[in-house]
Amino acid sequence: MLTWKIGDVTITKLVEFEGVLPTGTPGSMLPDGNPAAIQEITWLVPHFATPDGQVKGSVHALLVQTPSQRLIVDTCIGNDKPRAAPMFNMLQTGFLRDLEAVGWRRDSVDAVLCTHLHVDHVGWNTVLEGGRWVPTFPRARYYMGRREFEHATAEAAAEGDRGHGGAILADSVQPIVDAGLATLVDMDAQIAPEIRLMPTPGHTPGHVSVVIESQGARAVITGDLMHHPCQLARPHWSSGFDTDQDASRRTRQAFLAQFADTPTLVIGTHFAGPTAGRIVRDGEAYRLAV
Ligand SMILES: [Zn+2]
Repeated sequence: MLTWKIGDVTITKLVEFEGVLPTGTPGSMLPDGNPAAIQEITWLVPHFATPDGQVKGSVHALLVQTPSQRLIVDTCIGNDKPRAAPMFNMLQTGFLRDLEAVGWRRDSVDAVLCTHLHVDHVGWNTVLEGGRWVPTFPRARYYMGRREFEHATAEAAAEGDRGHGGAILADSVQPIVDAGLATLVDMDAQIAPEIRLMPTPGHTPGHVSVVIESQGARAVITGDLMHHPCQLARPHWSSGFDTDQDASRRTRQAFLAQFADTPTLVIGTHFAGPTAGRIVRDGEAYRLAV
């Protein structure tokens, strides 16, 4: 299992899914990322793409252990959940078993943080027990952006039965609110002495990244401000999943410029393999040094 040390903080990657993802078609994760275009970015092989230009991705949670608390950033897809996308539908994975295997009992988790409220970031917020969705982490405070919560709620209401957002909120967010465990926060909130949010809107209007600082070291968890390292080389490639592709592009370009050629460890929420690295300038754009 991959871990990183940032001063006194340890971050561990807990994988739910890793594999090749469909790209290169309208509405996909990376509409511009067809195999030929991916192959032009040669440094993506072997970690982030196959030699024939297929994109590798990952769905994982990041376990953040500070000197005083245990926090999980993004809770993947979850088990038993009826979902429109076949890849997400009615999963049965050993995620919770793997979590306990690294010593994280469910009742030892102090906090959960969702970078945004999409299907692959809220799933393990809840588990099915006795036919009801209940909080997976009964002693945790669940932090969600207020802006994000309001957006997701409004979007689900507008879509009604035509959309999928309502079902996701109903089984993975509302039970947290009902249990009194949800805390809605500003997009730049300080969550713990070592952990603060950074507004990175575009993928969703309330999307945040997570900055971890300790003993002069710093890491940033991207969330979905980018989905794949190819977007370092092609910052203008927005995702078909972005609510606002222009805003996402502006946010990504500002993020890359801010952290390029600095010691900040950038940990990708959907980056496969080594998952983290430093952003370095590479001609007109960037690459991920792992
Ligand atoms: Zn995602």
